[in-house]
Amino acid sequence: MSLPIGKDHQLILTSVMMMNKLLHLNHHPGTSPSPFKTHISSFNDDFIELAESYCYPMGGGQPSDHAVLSNKRFSCNIQDVRGKETLMHYFEKISGEFEVGDEITCIIDTKRRNQLCKMHTAQHLISALANEEWKAETVGNQIGVESTRIDLKFENRDVFDASHLQSIVNNEIDNALEVKMNFREVNDLLDDPLVRINMDRMPPNINLWRTIAIGDIDVCPCAGTHVANTREIPQLEITRVKSKGAGKLRVEYKLNE
Ligand SMILES: [Zn+2]
Repeated sequence: MSLPIGKDHQLILTSVMMMNKLLHLNHHPGTSPSPFKTHISSFNDDFIELAESYCYPMGGGQPSDHAVLSNKRFSCNIQDVRGKETLMHYFEKISGEFEVGDEITCIIDTKRRNQLCKMHTAQHLISALANEEWKAETVGNQIGVESTRIDLKFENRDVFDASHLQSIVNNEIDNALEVKMNFREVNDLLDDPLVRINMDRMPPNINLWRTIAIGDIDVCPCAGTHVANTREIPQLEITRVKSKGAGKLRVEYKLNE
């Protein structure tokens, strides 16, 4: 679950209906994306737009991919990707020259992508199990390469037990649960008890949702990138729990390779 209530997230999910634009949405697992060839459709001083792109654009609490674009005449590093339909690939370290129409190869930084897939799938587990144990609701998240944080809202946050949460999350990691992607209709999700988020809060104009299911413990609409099986996630360590006001706690974790 990449924060199901965030504005960016909603906009990204809206574009599930435009899957020809956000091509990463058609792929699961999100790990080790292949290099792809495409051509430059436009550019300005800051970013390049491509005819098509499999890069993940920042959204839903997950940062964007990094990548290298190149052909025989030029190369550049992509350090940020943004956008809802046509993606803006923000570049730096350009060498050589390019123009609209040039064919290029895009190589996504798979080490970074794979780590974000592990962190993101771990976030689904924490959100699901905190909900299962204490009826906690995930109200925010920021996924990172080194550390990730999730904001949980409790009816009674005093009952929260970080070491218990860490233990049950690591159990599910060890249980090697399959992580599956589907496209499901909203009526189908409303009838599914494994959907923990309130679908009434989701944009009402979307009928078909990209969903991520983990074993038989969680189903969540999500536009992010995930691993294929929880066994790919290293053991998780909760590193900090911080008060975020009445009823809310910020839980931070890292993955120990
Ligand atoms: Zn997700």
